[in-house]
Amino acid sequence: MSPRIRGESGRLMAQRYRDKYFIECEGPLPPETIKDLDLAYEVSARINQMAPCELCGVCCHQKRIIVQDHEVTRISEHLGLDEGGFRDEYLFREDDKWFFSRTDPCHFLSDENRCTIQEVKPEICNDAPFLTTQFIGAVFYLLRYQREGLIIPILGNFILDDSPCSRKAAKIMSDEIAIVLSRDVEPLTDGSCLEGSAKAV
Ligand code: SF4
Repeated sequence: MSPRIRGESGRLMAQRYRDKYFIECEGPLPPETIKDLDLAYEVSARINQMAPCELCGVCCHQKRIIVQDHEVTRISEHLGLDEGGFRDEYLFREDDKWFFSRTDPCHFLSDENRCTIQEVKPEICNDAPFLTTQFIGAVFYLLRYQREGLIIPILGNFILDDSPCSRKAAKIMSDEIAIVLSRDVEPLTDGSCLEGSAKAV
């Protein structure tokens, strides 16, 4: 997460995640759900800055690291592999939409807990630890099981308590949620679909 985000308004943050993380819309989402998504992203981004990565490698041990289509091209070129070969060896597809890493831990994690494809790693890895486990986890849950629900009340359910940064995050989460909710923020859109159909970040 860029340090720049600390100075960004909630609105700019919302626009940023919408540019990056498409939300599946088979029908309109209620305005309060859209506002909740924006605020949940802001909470996650704020916590990312206050509890930064401590290089423990836990995130890279998560199953199902999301790899976007254009990242398949970038990484396979970096490795000198053809795209089909790269996909077959390292990824699997789900619902015809998402590519996920095939191994746990990630194939590209070294024995020293370092990423061996740092320059070309998936974007989702740049948003780890909390954006991945909190915001995206909550978005998946919402879209699959509770489309008209709210994310903020369940954000804490997605904290992994097995890493030093997540333990720090757990302590500050309720304060950060309170700060964000204390503002009177209007949603950026009228409740219509955010960006069309789902796209893997
Ligand atoms: S690509 Fe790198 S940062 Fe991302 S999960 Fe794999 S080892 Fe970790």
